[in-house]
Amino acid sequence: MQPVLSLNGISKSYGSIQALKNVSLDIPQGCVFGILGPNGSGKTTMLSIILDILKTDNGSFNWFGKKGSPETRKHIGSLLETPNFYHYLSAVDNLNITHAISGRGSAEEIERVLKIVKLDERKTSRFSSYSLGMKQRLAIAAALLGDPQVLVFDEPTNGLDPVGIAEIRELIKELAKRGKTIIMASHLLDEVEKVCTHVAILKKGDLLTAGSVDEVLANEDIVEISANDIGQLETILGGLSGYSHIKKEGSRLQLFFPVGTAKLEDVNRFCFEKGITLNLLTVKKKSLETKFFELTNQ
Ligand code: ADP
Ligand code: MG
Repeated sequence: MQPVLSLNGISKSYGSIQALKNVSLDIPQGCVFGILGPNGSGKTTMLSIILDILKTDNGSFNWFGKKGSPETRKHIGSLLETPNFYHYLSAVDNLNITHAISGRGSAEEIERVLKIVKLDERKTSRFSSYSLGMKQRLAIAAALLGDPQVLVFDEPTNGLDPVGIAEIRELIKELAKRGKTIIMASHLLDEVEKVCTHVAILKKGDLLTAGSVDEVLANEDIVEISANDIGQLETILGGLSGYSHIKKEGSRLQLFFPVGTAKLEDVNRFCFEKGITLNLLTVKKKSLETKFFELTNQ
């Protein structure tokens, strides 16, 4: 399937600061794509480039396989900075103004988008009476005008309280279920783990890795084993093949296998035949957290 967006060798500098370094990336259709990285890693710069707010120094990008055609813009809704809503106007009046200025959507559609973001019951209240979470949901409603296929959000839960954060995350998942492709920047690992299907990790402008969250998560199977005599266990494991390396974790040993190749029965049988009865045998995936930590600290 044609990617929704392809980045090809994108670079961008601000004076001597290189914010993006030769970044290439494909964003598949229908995914929730997280751009993950600490502050200053280039996330906002990347989103600004793909939304034509900033120009690249080098490289190119294609939406829906086409080069920057204005026609494609209609299919992209975005939320980079909180829009300037009028404090004394209601949600409906504010969205009417957004619609009039941007030409996106229709007056009838305003009711529909307010329902999606669950503001329909408060649609006539003044914006100034809204919680931060409600304000953010109104901003997302504005991005939904015109029913775009793709939504681009920069740190959509920033500054919200835990309830507001949970509501926005639910809303993003709901939009994904409706078939939207969502591209969102976040510096929060757990947010990406909870919300996204795909992830690209940026560090100081370098793309460290990208892929489905599962792929990025699990590039190794870790088999944890233990026995009463751990020294003897370690000795016999010299004869077992298939794993790349071994690590001691307290009273357990961790065997690292290439993803998908660890077979617990084989490990169990091997040890038993060598006269060792295991008292622990389990496989675990490397967590994204461990991976993220390794990648961003190298
Ligand atoms: P993120 O969104 O991941 O926090 P940014 O894309 O905002 O990262 O910033 C990437 C780098 O570019 C940072 O070092 C930041 O200080 C720098 N930067 C961003 N915008 C500007 C600007 N307008 N002028 C100068 N430097 C900038
Ligand atoms: Mg940013």
